Amino acid sequence: MFIVYGKKVGVIKRSTDHQRNCKNCKDFNQKTVVRQAYGHVYYIPFFPMGPKYAEIYCESCGQRTHDTTLQNDYEKSTRAPFYYYSGLIVILSLMLYGAIADWMDSFSTKKFVQHPIVNDVYRVVDKQENGDVYTYLKLKKIEGDSLSFYESRLVYVHVSKKFAEIDYFMNNAFVKYSKNQIVNMFDEGLIDQIERDYTEASGYSREETMKE
Ligand SMILES: [Zn+2]
Repeated sequence: MFIVYGKKVGVIKRSTDHQRNCKNCKDFNQKTVVRQAYGHVYYIPFFPMGPKYAEIYCESCGQRTHDTTLQNDYEKSTRAPFYYYSGLIVILSLMLYGAIADWMDSFSTKKFVQHPIVNDVYRVVDKQENGDVYTYLKLKKIEGDSLSFYESRLVYVHVSKKFAEIDYFMNNAFVKYSKNQIVNMFDEGLIDQIERDYTEASGYSREETMKE
């Protein structure tokens, strides 16, 4: 992908000093402009780059003042503005938002295992030497502490939020776990996704239809 990025110089402060006068026209109209470069991606500033540079001139006649001490003072007292970090702020905000969303999600998922209801779909991780494989379980019966599930027909090496087109839950046999076993599996990360109120498009509602 082609990315537009680079460095641009911008003005970070303008001010006028009416206390000092011009050596040329004697007017009290000393203007200071402080500039600094920023690194940009697609012209969105990400961070300040390089030194600040203050320029002092008379607004009336244009005469420039070269006063290193004064220029240094202006440079030191001027901070790069907030918007010089725009890109960085946007990216950090998105990361923070994602982290908070994940965190909130983990709470609702935990609630699902603690209070299971029929038709919940669990994704179960089977940790194997050559990589993890996944199966899906669909809760069909709750009897006291015992949970009975239908199992997905397919075993997955790669997972997405969806059931494979050709997959369905097999209703020929129940797989049974106790509530505690399920909570432990969740805590150990062996159940890594729980779906409830899923859509038809997710495919989780498909079950094997009995042959006549
Ligand atoms: Zn002047």
